[in-house]
Amino acid sequence: MNINKMQTTHPYKNKSNNMESLSLAHAKEILTDYLETSDLRKTPERYAVLKAIYSFEGHFKIEELGKMLEENNFRVSRATLYNTMKLFLQLRLVMQHRVQGKTWYEAKTSQSNHCHQICTVCGKVTEIELPEVIAALNRAKLSRFRKDGFALYIYGTCSSCQAKITRRKNMK
Ligand SMILES: [Zn+2]
Ligand SMILES: [Zn+2]
Repeated sequence: MNINKMQTTHPYKNKSNNMESLSLAHAKEILTDYLETSDLRKTPERYAVLKAIYSFEGHFKIEELGKMLEENNFRVSRATLYNTMKLFLQLRLVMQHRVQGKTWYEAKTSQSNHCHQICTVCGKVTEIELPEVIAALNRAKLSRFRKDGFALYIYGTCSSCQAKITRRKNMK
C-alpha cells in the first residue's frame, strides 16, 4: 500500500470531526494489511467473519454471529470464531461491551460514537442518539491525549424489565 492511499483511507484521518469512520471496505483493508505484514494467512474464514460482523445492525452476541455464518453456509469452529474476534478487537475493527456477564459486539462504523442504554436486569444493550452529548464530547479538550472514539453507557432498567418488576410487585 502506498503512503498517499494510506492517508486518504486511514479511518481516523478522513473525517472532518477527526473521529473514526470505518466501512467494511476499510475494515477489509486494515485486516489485509495486518495479515500481510504479519505473514499470516488470508483465510476466507477471517473475511467471512468480518463481512458477517458488518452486516449486523447494532449489537450482537457471538452466538448470533455463529448462527449468521451458518445461515450463509460458512461453518467456523467456536475456537476460530473467538480467535478471530480477539484479532478484530486488537485491530479495533469491532467493539466489545461486557454487561452483566454477557458480551456484546458491534462493528466499528461511522456510528461508533454513540450512547448505550444498558439494562442492569437483563443486560440488554440499546442505542440512543444524544447529539448534544456527542457534540460536547467532541468539543472536550483532553489532556495530552488524541481521542479516536468513545463509548458511553447509561445504566438502568429497560421497559420490559420494568413491566416485569411492576407485575411481580402487583402479584404480592
Ligand atoms: Zn453500540
Ligand atoms: Zn431489561
